[in-house]
Amino acid sequence: WHDKLLGGFRRTSDRLVGNLAGLGGARLEEHTLDEVEEALIGSDLGPETAGRVRARLAEGTFERNMEELGIRLVVAEEVEKVLAQVAKPLGIDAFPRPQVVLVIGVNGSGKTTTIAKLAHLFLEQDYQVMLAAGDTFRAAAIGQLRTWAERIGVPIVTGPEGGDAAGIVWDAVKKATEIGTDVLIVDTAGRLQNKRELMDELAKIRRVLGRLNPAAPHDVLLVLDATTGQNALNQIEVFKEVAGVTGLVMTKLDGTARGGVLVAAAERYGLPIHAIGVGEQMDDLRPFDAREVSRIIA
Ligand code: GDP
Repeated sequence: WHDKLLGGFRRTSDRLVGNLAGLGGARLEEHTLDEVEEALIGSDLGPETAGRVRARLAEGTFERNMEELGIRLVVAEEVEKVLAQVAKPLGIDAFPRPQVVLVIGVNGSGKTTTIAKLAHLFLEQDYQVMLAAGDTFRAAAIGQLRTWAERIGVPIVTGPEGGDAAGIVWDAVKKATEIGTDVLIVDTAGRLQNKRELMDELAKIRRVLGRLNPAAPHDVLLVLDATTGQNALNQIEVFKEVAGVTGLVMTKLDGTARGGVLVAAAERYGLPIHAIGVGEQMDDLRPFDAREVSRIIA
């Protein structure tokens, strides 16, 4: 997975080198600082972090031929500081059980796969897991989730295509409570095209959950596709408004040079980042580790 991530990210600071010859023992010149800052912003890192890196570089001096290393180190340190604030594994601590995890995100973001990965992860941690197929809008989504449930070996509550998602959630919570499930992971429709309907549907699911357990949903996870870059940031904006997001999972970090968006998201929204997706298989979910990721980005 480490190689996959590395191959995907393509180090942000690779874009920086090549302009740095002959600076030995000197401060970096203005135009070099400009270039570094622009390259970082171009990597979706966000203007705040890029600005802080620039300010630190402006103060330092670099030995000849050590400029690249020096810059990488500063970028890594600044990135780690930002990411450390939001790196937070998803804990299972709800009482009474089950902990209800609502999973939201636009179609194609990797929502279904992430649900499967989370189920697998919790199962490995010896928790009892159940899935609820609350994305009734797409028949394919129900089928896909059922296939994953069978493969992983967890029970799933489904309904007919076009059925009432809130009804499925109601049934699922009842059943989960009955059999002592620890975690109930709920898929939801990702129709951002129709914000009103999506909002109503999520609100209805919340009402139903609240009637069964006032603390539910305990988590509202937004799944974001890192390859969409800045778009991912817009999605946070919209879903925060329609769904009250409590945390993020960023997918497809194995296939993109745009992982810098993680930093921009952390900086701008401060939402916990629980995990990252680094592939299509059920064990391709990594807990989000600020140090590890900052060393890979930089
Ligand atoms: P959904 O429409 O949001 O439920 O998205 P899916 O879970 O069906 O995922 C869409 C596509 O992205 C599928 O082909 C997945 O295999 C793929 N995918 C999901 N997560 C990852 C990931 O972390 N890395 C890669 N490379 N592909 C992923």
